[in-house]
Amino acid sequence: MEYDKNFDWAKRDLELIWHPCSQMKDYETLVPIVIERGEGVYLYDTEGNRYIDVISSWWCNLLGHCNPQISAAVKQQADTLEHVIFANFTHKKVIELCDRLIKIIPKGLCKFNFADNGSSAIEMAMKMSFQYHQQTGNPQKTKFMALTDAYHGETIGALSVGAVDLYSEIYKPILMNTIKVPAPDCYRCPYGKLHGNCDCECFEKAEEVFEKFADETCAILVEPLLQGSAGMKVYPPMYLTKLRALCDKYNVHLIADEIATGFGRTGKMFAFDHAGVSPDIMCVSKGLTGGYMPMAIAITTQKIYDAFYADYSTGKAFMHSHTYSGNPLAASAAVEVLKILEDGTVLKRANENAIYFHDLIKNTFANHPNVGDIRHIGLINAIEIVEDKAEKKSFSRKFRLGYQIYKKALKRGVLLRPLGDIIYFNPPLIFERKDMDYAVKVAYECMVEVLEEHKSLSLQS
Ligand SMILES: *Cc1c(COP(=O)(O)O)cnc(C)c1O
Repeated sequence: MEYDKNFDWAKRDLELIWHPCSQMKDYETLVPIVIERGEGVYLYDTEGNRYIDVISSWWCNLLGHCNPQISAAVKQQADTLEHVIFANFTHKKVIELCDRLIKIIPKGLCKFNFADNGSSAIEMAMKMSFQYHQQTGNPQKTKFMALTDAYHGETIGALSVGAVDLYSEIYKPILMNTIKVPAPDCYRCPYGKLHGNCDCECFEKAEEVFEKFADETCAILVEPLLQGSAGMKVYPPMYLTKLRALCDKYNVHLIADEIATGFGRTGKMFAFDHAGVSPDIMCVSKGLTGGYMPMAIAITTQKIYDAFYADYSTGKAFMHSHTYSGNPLAASAAVEVLKILEDGTVLKRANENAIYFHDLIKNTFANHPNVGDIRHIGLINAIEIVEDKAEKKSFSRKFRLGYQIYKKALKRGVLLRPLGDIIYFNPPLIFERKDMDYAVKVAYECMVEVLEEHKSLSLQS
């Protein structure tokens, strides 16, 4: 098939493709942007327009697009071994990957089971935990706990432990029953405390739920320190420390969903590192391969692994597989990511820039009457737009203010993609100050324009 120079790629896209997490009718007014190439924090479309990718292409691009070192490693791997069955077979890259990971992950995690996307790793962790309890004398443990506002992926099991209604509401009749623990909410703290200036009083809610339901519970899943899809809600490490102790008390596994937070996003290698405790199972994906290839891992302890280790005839094995488990191309990208992060300079630079970035955002946004909250961790910053600052009252979703800001910012070369009315930045770790200056200026100006337009529209009606 030949495409001529003037071929309308976007039009053909819309004839063929159903895009993720989209109302396709919206594409009538915002046709898909055809990206030709990427370089560092920039994406370039077929018309030569440049976009600063401040959301790391859905939070996975860690070290810039087309990072020369990662690209070279993947190219070399493609000429060596592209894929091999991972039952009974293995290969050097994936072993090197685990060897490198084990040195940097929270203590006690030491067995690596591979999947190819985050949702699958979450479900793998849930199955592991369930089966562990079945095989260690607690068959009554059949339920899962998760925080309200949680996001753990889109497949039916992962959606069941999630609680963002936008994604799960309609599917409720086919989801499994899970037990929800009220999540910390530092912006609208029911105890009237300020973020980081508390004793996690809200943890008493978790204690109440554990008291009632822990006996029938296998595990609790958490997005450590950062509930991303909920609107980049940040909560203090003390919550995790307390949760670790509570899980130990009740023999409930602590499953860390580090899919969004892993690999330096929160300023440390993993969010759990801020708390100084370890989960029983940790799921990683996204930044793991620098955003090059789909790969995910559920990493667990010797203790959990041992509950499955027996003669074949006992039926205790974990009979779970994904075709692309341990894929060599993905492993080669991941090894290279870890090599780049190894000496700490990238993270050190990111943490220095994070101070600059947050100050810049605070100074730009804080005084605006519709900016209710600015929260941050690592390079991640979120700005919550509200209708009434004193009441912390949101605008009605039907105005889609965030979406309008998104469209405006695209025209000016910044890829923002707000979550509802929450503008956020989750850039690659290599994000530098001059791009910060531009992206923040554009985000602010687009927000102001949209709010003024909204005001004049409401006055008319
Ligand atoms: C993205 C994400 C997932 C799901 O990963 P997929 O690869 O999209 O299935 C799960 N949990 C968190 C915290 C995420 O950010």
